[in-house]
Amino acid sequence: MALWKCAVCGAEMEARCKPGKCKNCGAEKDQLVKDAPAGTKKKES
Ligand SMILES: [Zn+2]
Repeated sequence: MALWKCAVCGAEMEARCKPGKCKNCGAEKDQLVKDAPAGTKKKES
């Protein structure tokens, strides 16, 4: 399960696939960025 964050309103959506649009503000999917859920983030040095 991936976490998608809307760059417009900041709403977060959990979905296996990229949502078509933000269900909160209706922003296009271009505005949705993939965000790893807490605890599963890759190590970034
Ligand atoms: Zn939004």
